[in-house]
Amino acid sequence: MKIATNKVALINYTLTNDQGEVLDSSEGAEPLAYIHGAGNIIPGLENALDGRQQGDAFKVSIPAEQAYGERDDRLTQIVPKTMFSGVDDIEIGMQFHAQTDAGMQVITVTAVEGDDVTIDGNHPLAGETLHFDVEIVEVREASSEELDHGHVHGTGGHHH
Ligand code: ZN
Repeated sequence: MKIATNKVALINYTLTNDQGEVLDSSEGAEPLAYIHGAGNIIPGLENALDGRQQGDAFKVSIPAEQAYGERDDRLTQIVPKTMFSGVDDIEIGMQFHAQTDAGMQVITVTAVEGDDVTIDGNHPLAGETLHFDVEIVEVREASSEELDHGHVHGTGGHHH
């Protein structure tokens, strides 16, 4: 069976950046399971997987615009420390969920100077070219329930 719209694919993958550092990997964990065409994974990876089948292994480099987008400097701002009431120690690298005009976003603290805290609403991988080493473990039909939910159930997916 080939990977096509509404098929479930299970993949093992290792993600590295331009410097060759491993950012994420399924090694030692369940494979990643996704519904093809449902927007579960970044567009560049979905395109690269289209038409592949079980046992295929390949490497692909995905530019930022096909991954998590370019960085947007407008998403960086300086806010007063008092905005983080209840957090004792604001440190660089801390991440918070924030409700913004663009919906729920993860913001990352990138600088702390006195009472000024610089926060960045860009995805941590925005602006990065992503290098994937992928192996396709399984391709199967999605169940109607999985299609209803828009995500995979069971191995590599949601358990609920
Ligand atoms: Zn579900």
